[in-house]
Amino acid sequence: MIISTGTASGKSLAYLTPAVASCLDGGTVLYLTPTKALAADQLRGLRELRITQLRAACFDGDTPFEERTWVRQHANYVLTNPDMLHRSILPRHAQWSSFFRRLRMVVVDECHGYRGVFGSHVAQILRRLRRVCARYGSRPTFLLASATASEPGAFGMRLTGLEMDEVTVDASPKGSTTIALWEPPLTELRGEGGAPVRRTATAEAADLLADLVLADVRTLAFVRSRRGAETVALTARAKLADVAFSLSTRHPRPSTPRQPNTAGTTPPKTAPTLNHQPSAADPASTTQPAPPEPALGHQPPSEPAHTAQPTQLETDPALNHQPDTAESAGPAMPEPPRTTNGPFTTEPAASTSGHASTATEPTSESSLTWALPDAPTQPDWTDLPNKIAAYRAGYLAEDRRLLEKALRSGTIMGLATTNALELGVDVSGLDAVLIAGWPGTRASLWQQAGRAGRDGQDALAVLIARDDPLDTYLVHHPQALFGQPVEAIVLDPDNPYVLGPHLCAAAAEIPLTDDDLPIFGTTTSTVLDDLVSQGLLRRRPAGWFWTRRERATDLADIRGGGGAPIQVVESSTGRLLGSVDEPSAHTTVHTGAVYLHQGETFLVELLDLEAGVALVSSAIPDFTTFARDITDISILATQRSHPLGPGTLHFGEVEVTRQVVSYLKRRLQSGEMLGDEPLDLPPRTLRTRAVWWTLPASAVAPLAEAGIDLGGAAHAAEHASIGLLPLFATCDRWDIGGVSTELHADTGLLTVFVYDGHEGGAGFAERGYARAADWLTATREAITSCECERGCPSCIQSPKCGNGNEPLDKRGAVRLLNTLLSSQ
Ligand SMILES: [Zn+2]
Ligand SMILES: [Zn+2]
Repeated sequence: MIISTGTASGKSLAYLTPAVASCLDGGTVLYLTPTKALAADQLRGLRELRITQLRAACFDGDTPFEERTWVRQHANYVLTNPDMLHRSILPRHAQWSSFFRRLRMVVVDECHGYRGVFGSHVAQILRRLRRVCARYGSRPTFLLASATASEPGAFGMRLTGLEMDEVTVDASPKGSTTIALWEPPLTELRGEGGAPVRRTATAEAADLLADLVLADVRTLAFVRSRRGAETVALTARAKLADVAFSLSTRHPRPSTPRQPNTAGTTPPKTAPTLNHQPSAADPASTTQPAPPEPALGHQPPSEPAHTAQPTQLETDPALNHQPDTAESAGPAMPEPPRTTNGPFTTEPAASTSGHASTATEPTSESSLTWALPDAPTQPDWTDLPNKIAAYRAGYLAEDRRLLEKALRSGTIMGLATTNALELGVDVSGLDAVLIAGWPGTRASLWQQAGRAGRDGQDALAVLIARDDPLDTYLVHHPQALFGQPVEAIVLDPDNPYVLGPHLCAAAAEIPLTDDDLPIFGTTTSTVLDDLVSQGLLRRRPAGWFWTRRERATDLADIRGGGGAPIQVVESSTGRLLGSVDEPSAHTTVHTGAVYLHQGETFLVELLDLEAGVALVSSAIPDFTTFARDITDISILATQRSHPLGPGTLHFGEVEVTRQVVSYLKRRLQSGEMLGDEPLDLPPRTLRTRAVWWTLPASAVAPLAEAGIDLGGAAHAAEHASIGLLPLFATCDRWDIGGVSTELHADTGLLTVFVYDGHEGGAGFAERGYARAADWLTATREAITSCECERGCPSCIQSPKCGNGNEPLDKRGAVRLLNTLLSSQ
């Protein structure tokens, strides 16, 4: 059974009821979630039920070894993730025999996270699980919970290999959520080829986050990348520090010298920079009567430090985004209401925030229990920035719990996060959600927006568009968001690069027999022959055996792209900061890249691929970097074709050679382009699947005669179509790539390819093939929606283009797509 409904629609209750009943009846339950944080949250909920016969326990990387034996032997409700199932539980199934023998139900929660290559791995892990269960005589029911998606039953069947019933009707009561679609303004800055530059989504998100926190609105900002989330938190904290500084300079302590450069020298309205400079010297504020001094920054006064100065906040220019608000051309959003409470209050503001209850909210004491490492321990003007923090999945369990607790209690009012929180940590009582950049899927959008306004409260969700064709399309076509779901959750369990390692792991668990082959799909016997010829498996009369000494599970890197990881090391101290898989290293830790680690920024001094090391040093650059690659593609086999307008659409296997050749530097806040630095990295070859379209010479000749640069038109259409495919397949722009050419050697025609960026394919290109007419129509709409004249990053420019976005022809791309779609 798959339940596919919105956030807070009662999915948990729908699986908990039968799951807990199974436990009370003597059975066991296996609960799977993509993240440890969600498992911990679920465990908390189960323990609150106070049912003594329910022995629930987490089994993940954070579980101490001495507890693991207890879990295996005594727990009847085990919460874990696919990684642990793959690496620990299935290979040691004999130790879990009594658990498997009684297994009644497998709950697969937040299963929309299992897409692409990762989803394909999970699909094979679930097949291995079914096989192990069969060995112990159990046949558990699979209960899947997913955010809304197109065709959930078909997805559930692909994920588990089992027939699925679907539940898609959501009848739960809801408060209303105001959804704002927010397009940042074009700035005066000029980018590549003179294109206008839009203000960045992260800069807008940081502004909004700081504003909302100052207005006592509990806000969560979702930012796609970890780096972006950390930047938003740092920027918003800096803004709050500016506010605190401007307040404290107005009420100086003897030890705090005033800034020498004050009144009059920096007129706020004409500040030359786009950064939000604090207007430390505001003439108006000097006329304010001095408020009572609550012993700022000294020992905690007997009076709590939340005696704020409302009048001062009302008029503080640092709270306004000068000069940006003045020139903002985006859709107007009302200023968040200023409350009469200062931002420093640690008491619930029941009269203004609408949901707080004095009886249940924590008191000001709780603000002392949470402090970031560099934070002062006393409530203080300077403590204001600590109301904002960044969160990501990589933090230690203890830190994560503290941060989740601080947000729930209101000690932290603003949190910038990647989608680690999207996957179900129960943070209730939020008022607003900011979503910086399209989160990739409508499912994620509703999931993230649904974080605000629990318990029937009204809420605000703001989608802030990035400089990207899909974001542009969506803010101009709200009907694509509010209509029927279009994107399906796609995965490709038959990918031989995924299937092979799991067949080895399965054979190591229990030797494979002919009877097992149907479980793993139609390509199984071919892949098995390959594994035998590579010496990985041995064929014997009784079946296929894993006879090597290594662990078979090490062959499958279920979350990574394969290859030996590159260690990221701080050069001055030798400290190991983390690791990056080899294919990603070319784009994330190349020499010169900006690398963020837990809120600290580093510059990569050197990437040494042979030594497997990236040396980094601590730095605070005011720019970000984007790796750019060039690509060659050749067709290995065409699997499907059909006519499209005067042209033809194809799907098949390709070989792609990609090389990162340079990196683009863009200023952090403004997005202004600072330069394109060359890199010397080896090419990487990838066998994968692609969708491509061709147009015959007879169809393109009239366009050439009309003066259109065919190469530039095809290139522009390729960039925009890569940007729009994620509307139809649950993938990321960075999961796919493209190649376009006026004349391709394998087709002899004008050809545009879009390929899966993962070895063996991930199902994205296949979905593009299935929905080509809609996909390419939306691509054309995205290009025509953008108000720029000759192309910009919001329509046809790509930040990862290895050809420096040359040549591009915006009008030509529209004409070319008109031709291709002419008979549709
Ligand atoms: Zn544009
Ligand atoms: Zn390009």
